[in-house]
Amino acid sequence: MNDILPPESALWEWLEEKVRAVMHQWSYRNVRTPVLEHTGLFVRGLGEVTDIVEKEMYSFEDRADKQGDADHLSLRPEGTAGVVRAVSEHSYLYDGGKRLYYMAPMFRRERPQRGRYRQFHQVGAEALGFAGPEVDAEMILLAHELWQQIGLKDVTLQLNSLGQPEERQRHREALIAYFQANEDQLDEDAKRRLHSNPLRILDTKNPAMQELATQAPKLMEYLGDASLKHFEQVQAILQAQGVKWQINPRLVRGLDYYNLTVFEFVSEALGSQGTICGGGRYDYLIEQIGGKAAPAVGWAFGVERVLELVKEQQLVPAAKSPSVYAIVPDAAALPQAMALLTALRRMGVAAQLHTSADSAQGMGSFKSQFKRADASGAAWALVFGTDELARGEVALKPLRHAGEQVLYALSNIDALAARIQSPIAQ
Ligand code: ATP
Ligand code: MG
Repeated sequence: MNDILPPESALWEWLEEKVRAVMHQWSYRNVRTPVLEHTGLFVRGLGEVTDIVEKEMYSFEDRADKQGDADHLSLRPEGTAGVVRAVSEHSYLYDGGKRLYYMAPMFRRERPQRGRYRQFHQVGAEALGFAGPEVDAEMILLAHELWQQIGLKDVTLQLNSLGQPEERQRHREALIAYFQANEDQLDEDAKRRLHSNPLRILDTKNPAMQELATQAPKLMEYLGDASLKHFEQVQAILQAQGVKWQINPRLVRGLDYYNLTVFEFVSEALGSQGTICGGGRYDYLIEQIGGKAAPAVGWAFGVERVLELVKEQQLVPAAKSPSVYAIVPDAAALPQAMALLTALRRMGVAAQLHTSADSAQGMGSFKSQFKRADASGAAWALVFGTDELARGEVALKPLRHAGEQVLYALSNIDALAARIQSPIAQ
């Protein structure tokens, strides 16, 4: 679990602002759900035989109340289950489908390494109550647009269709027969999943089993007309916008709840933690967790992994600096200086007050204050000299471009603010 301090945190804010802007343009609205949910929600939602539920959740019992009933709770390992719970609890789809997004911390007890943490952050989008392939495509385009806005390069889209449950069932039988015929090549994990979740064997990270997984029966060959048509329409929409993809028949995603379209955005630059975003359609999840059946599509991306790419590709934005740094030679001028700063800030000026570490030492020398002003990155120093203040004036001095200092009347701070905000020093 990481602490995120400045200047690193500025990168997070930058990304969050991009996300908010794009979500607004695409009409996705913000949703916020609790960090804790009943453990049963994730067991029902994600499936019992998944990495997350089997070994990664932070689960505990809270204190028993008077009746002696403690709750079994878990820190959320992902966002979809909680959103779906909230949507059904509030009958939120009563008047039609909804588009939602979130940015939030998630918790999984995995082995920490680059791009894999125990508290990590996801941006997720969910479109609930829509059945058509255009929504699958919209979701993919939405994520793709985010990469464009961030400036990410070399992110590839992988697509697959998992079909419908009955199609999967027929494929599953073929898969079990195939793996049984090759049982001597299965690792322990695969043997355990052979009957509970054979599709997940295709998702194996064990190099010794790659060949076996590649040769396995393909789900695509078991899809009926409706599923194939859905998948083709998704691709036609992507094609019309020049978005490129690869079909990956082994893309099954780590969770049980998906059907029809599934997708991942992958980058080569991140090594084995290469998946930055994953998602798909989950038409049966809402019903599975006890809500009124409704189709849905969603995805989530890992903020840490995307920011790792941002740094790798040197897309880091310039640091934000204050516009003015207030130099106050004598502490007696502080009340007046701080009142003026408040007024300037209300007019949209970003202002930083000089502060001393040790009040017994006073405010510090003129020279040391200017040194701090320089280090702050501010374009201007605003000097609250005692003599000038007595005359009702304050001095504005450029720090990063040529020019003399200019005096402004305290009674006319509009002119002062206009000068600070003029393009000259931007
Ligand atoms: P992986 O195969 O890398 O474990 P996943 O399939 O478990 O990923 P999802 O549940 O689909 O991941 O979550 C969506 C995204 O969240 C991932 O693509 C990844 O960017 C990010 N993510 C998942 N787990 C972690 C983690 N432990 N630390 C940081 N980011 C993560
Ligand atoms: Mg995982």
